[in-house]
Amino acid sequence: MVSATAVALGGSTSHSQVTDWYGPVMTTTAIRDAVLSGASGEDLANLPIPESYRASFVRRDEVDMFEGLPSEEKDPRLALHVDEVATPELAPDEVYLAVMASSINFNTVWSSIFEPLPTFGFLDRLARESEWSARHRRDEHILGSDASGVVLRVGSAVRNWKPGDRVTVHCNHVDDQDPSAHDDSMLANNQRIWGFETNFGGLADIAVVKANQLMPKPTHLTWEEAAVNALCNSTSYRMLVSNNGARMKQGDSVLIWGATGGIGGYAVQYVLNGGGTPIGVVSSPERAALLEAMGCEAIIDRRAEGYRFWSDEHTQDESEWRRFGKKIRELTGEDPDIVFEHPGRSTMGASVFAVRRGGTVVTCAATSGYMVEFDNRHLWMKLKRVLSSHFANYAEAWAANRLIDQGRIQPLLSRVHTLDEVGEAARAVHRNEVEGKVGVLCLSPEEGLGIDDPEKRDRIGEDRITVVRRHST
Ligand code: NAP
Repeated sequence: MVSATAVALGGSTSHSQVTDWYGPVMTTTAIRDAVLSGASGEDLANLPIPESYRASFVRRDEVDMFEGLPSEEKDPRLALHVDEVATPELAPDEVYLAVMASSINFNTVWSSIFEPLPTFGFLDRLARESEWSARHRRDEHILGSDASGVVLRVGSAVRNWKPGDRVTVHCNHVDDQDPSAHDDSMLANNQRIWGFETNFGGLADIAVVKANQLMPKPTHLTWEEAAVNALCNSTSYRMLVSNNGARMKQGDSVLIWGATGGIGGYAVQYVLNGGGTPIGVVSSPERAALLEAMGCEAIIDRRAEGYRFWSDEHTQDESEWRRFGKKIRELTGEDPDIVFEHPGRSTMGASVFAVRRGGTVVTCAATSGYMVEFDNRHLWMKLKRVLSSHFANYAEAWAANRLIDQGRIQPLLSRVHTLDEVGEAARAVHRNEVEGKVGVLCLSPEEGLGIDDPEKRDRIGEDRITVVRRHST
């Protein structure tokens, strides 16, 4: 078992076998080689866990580095470091995961620009909860809320998983001894997002995850295709399909902001699968073409239409809301039953206005600003409702993962970076330059590896699985 203090941070330990006074020190290279050569679970379980591993992190002493700069000028490349970090000890309910691939989520962007808050406060609060959670308090925060990989070791209390299992990871981190976690675990008092509000996330060669975050890896996907889904796919599933969300029905029309983005792209697929009509909003002709390739027929290019919902910083323009509503009626003949909302301040007024009488605006975010404003008369007089949603509980994440495994929902992978390029990748997401999801290769040395069932892949169809990759800019 490793010692949490054995390795100094930021040291020069290389990404290969090294030696010190007590002989060879196992590094992640041996783990990667074993996974790639198809080593058995028993063989993997016999590999020593290295005392350090390569990871992407932000630093506590740099949280003020962007002070005074506007959000758009904060550059994730300056804040995201990739270096060796000390391996934490394993709690009884956790596993060590060899991370083959991970993905960039918007929360990695928030962490790397230290907005709306630096994430070290989350780690410090978690550290006060128990002896094991004290490990999370460090001067580096290892980020990443998605992963695909192979289980290397299981803690003594883990029953359902074993070394060698090929898995994906969802990011709902809960204390299962807390009674408030036993109805809907998203309502648990100490619910957290792994790799954002906890340490030891997935943008790394090794991750530490609770056993109740694990799900079987979809067998027809590559490591990078499997790694990009859990966070966004589960979020969209809860927002639209689950009993905790908008409970979309067959025939519903659903307005989807950012319809070729992470959560928006899964939302489009859920509406199409559920017998509804998606109305996708995007900001370029290229994104409109991608949306069409995904099967969405009602498309609004918000930039081409030139909507100005805010006439100045303090004033919204109802005539622009009306112009937007009219456009939706032109496309589908009716007002949307549901609005899938996440841009926040820039769009919330229009969303509440546009949704039909008695309809639901379901929101999980506020990319453009969290102090939102809408005309409450449109809400109450027309009996509309605003429903909040946040990630997904284990059952919802599992159901969403199963749909990927069945080939009913496709991965949204649009581009792939190496772990060393994580800053570049996060910057592109921050600047809204990316469609779908960005995959990050961690231990996997190249794209295309990890497919366990090529016949199933053929059955589902390469064209469907790679639609975003082939049509993204
Ligand atoms: P993403 O991949 O960057 O996609 C966001 C999309 O939103 C973009 O493609 C863009 O589309 C659209 N957009 C951005 N700014 C806009 C604006 N001012 N007005 C209208 N549309 C705008 O990000 P994501 O992964 O989908 O995440 C979206 C948001 O949800 C983020 O804030 C993220 O933190 C949050 N989120 C929350 C949860 C949760 O559990 N609560 C889970 C996942 C994500 P166009 O420019 O093409 O219109």
